[in-house]
Amino acid sequence: MSIASNLTRFPCTLCDNNRTFKSKAGLQRHENIKHSDYKDIPTHILLVPEYELLHVKHVIVKEIQKRLKNHYSNKGGQVFSIHCSENCFIGIFGQYLTRYSVCGGWYRCFFDGEEAIDQLAEIFKDVRWAERNYENRQLSWVKLCLERGILIEWKIRGFSDKAGHRCESGEATFRFIVDQGQF
Ligand SMILES: [Zn+2]
Repeated sequence: MSIASNLTRFPCTLCDNNRTFKSKAGLQRHENIKHSDYKDIPTHILLVPEYELLHVKHVIVKEIQKRLKNHYSNKGGQVFSIHCSENCFIGIFGQYLTRYSVCGGWYRCFFDGEEAIDQLAEIFKDVRWAERNYENRQLSWVKLCLERGILIEWKIRGFSDKAGHRCESGEATFRFIVDQGQF
């Protein structure tokens, strides 16, 4: 194989035998199948001061609370994204990763089950992060049961204009289910 054609191939850095692929999509497919539980934190991550992490935690809780509305039409699936650096995301969720894609550069965390309420309360430093109290004993809350929890993903997102000017930044996206009722 010539050097030129070798350069255009995409190597899997996680395989011992340095397997290469013709396209990035091929490498991503391989990663999804063979390295679906890979979650080592990459060495380029920098430490973020605790007070900066706390600010982003407050942003997350505020965005969750905004979606805990008191109207039946707001029950069900919710999704929102916040701007968040890779370092910051790892500072908050690094030890809870369920997946890191080396080739895609994205991370994923999934919290489910009753214990996830307490686990995220500890992370967010807010014991009431998952519920919002309204008048007349009415409550809206994040529904966390087995396999239907809160999915958190981080990746670079952006777009280009017709002249090829690209804008992009890191975003953390949160997906969860809201339920409501009397208590
Ligand atoms: Zn591999």
